[in-house]
Amino acid sequence: MHVITSVAEMQQIAETARQQGRSVGCVPTMGSLHNGHGSLIAASAERHALTVTSVFVNPTQFGPHEDYDAYPRDLDGDIATIRAHGGTHVFAPSVAEMYPEGFTTSIRVGGVTEVLEGARRPGHFDGVATVVCKLLEAMRPTEAFFGQKDYQQTLVVKRMVRDLFLPVKITVMPTVREDDGLAMSSRNVYLSADQRNKATTIYRALLAAQDLLSETEDTISRQAIEHAMTLVISHVPEFEIDYAVAVDADTLQEQEAYATGDRVALLIAAKLGTTRLIDNLVVTV
Ligand code: AMP
Repeated sequence: MHVITSVAEMQQIAETARQQGRSVGCVPTMGSLHNGHGSLIAASAERHALTVTSVFVNPTQFGPHEDYDAYPRDLDGDIATIRAHGGTHVFAPSVAEMYPEGFTTSIRVGGVTEVLEGARRPGHFDGVATVVCKLLEAMRPTEAFFGQKDYQQTLVVKRMVRDLFLPVKITVMPTVREDDGLAMSSRNVYLSADQRNKATTIYRALLAAQDLLSETEDTISRQAIEHAMTLVISHVPEFEIDYAVAVDADTLQEQEAYATGDRVALLIAAKLGTTRLIDNLVVTV
């Protein structure tokens, strides 16, 4: 598979395809691909003549003490995964290609970026919005695929696309999980065997909250839902909970209580040792 590294060549390939009436789907990733990424590639390949997967570990979305240097990189393995899921093109630019000398522009999305990941990882969503905008401009897709695994990120990307009139459809695909429920993530390789066994507790906490919401007949307090999640996680004392919240699924704002028909996002971030895991479920009460 031809690995495209130049933005100009990428744009030309996408433009030529579109002029020939061949649609372009894209899947932005940071590489170290697993079946979660694979499901996005397969969804795009089903609908589009070209499916471009970008592989770019974006430095601007990592904080100074985060894992940019340690982040797993394996382009050869990624190419095999992309091919296996029906991807047709790989776009793997260098940092210098994406952020040439003198680069100063950034995109800041308001609102949904101000809480949760945005509050704990200053500048993270500026980095995400800016790189996604640039990747869309490079790959020129008609449709771009994202995973619900990064729920807040999907809201940020959708907001940016609406606010900037970007001519692309954003499609969000369900979270792909390991057999025991752990959400697949490139960062799972950081876990020791013992931590890996315990990591599934996050999903069990989400399920406990989901069960509670499915039994709710009228209203339920946010506190009760959040307590159900923290209780499950507290059974593994090694977990350091960053947040375990039940928020409005559209605005990410906390409400005192939720009533039948409300869409609630259950979101957890927790650390096992030095590895930070995130997961979520979106549930209608
Ligand atoms: P990343 O390489 O972690 O930046 O992820 C690239 C894309 O794959 C993002 O849209 C993620 O939300 C999505 N993704 C990551 N893990 C999963 C998963 N387990 N299931 C579905 N999508 C995922």
